[in-house]
Amino acid sequence: MANDDTTESTMKTVEIGAKYVYHNVMELTGFDRCDRCNAQAYAKVTTLSGKELMFCGHHLASHKPVLMETCQEIHDYTPALATTGMTSASV
Ligand SMILES: [Zn+2]
Repeated sequence: MANDDTTESTMKTVEIGAKYVYHNVMELTGFDRCDRCNAQAYAKVTTLSGKELMFCGHHLASHKPVLMETCQEIHDYTPALATTGMTSASV
């Protein structure tokens, strides 16, 4: 479960809202696109109403504080980037 290979703010304790899950295995595909910028998605978010949103790494990071308060589940696949040899280009 624990992943020590991420670059930013991994250790912040989450005290509000959403259940936050890190994934070391990428389950999203190139068909999953960020709802904000249409880049490849690296996070899947379930809102309180059950709707699914997709975010790239950049927009996941920038919206995380709000998502934590307004969603029930956040699945973060950015740790999988490190294990698959892919890079999060141009953040
Ligand atoms: Zn994006």
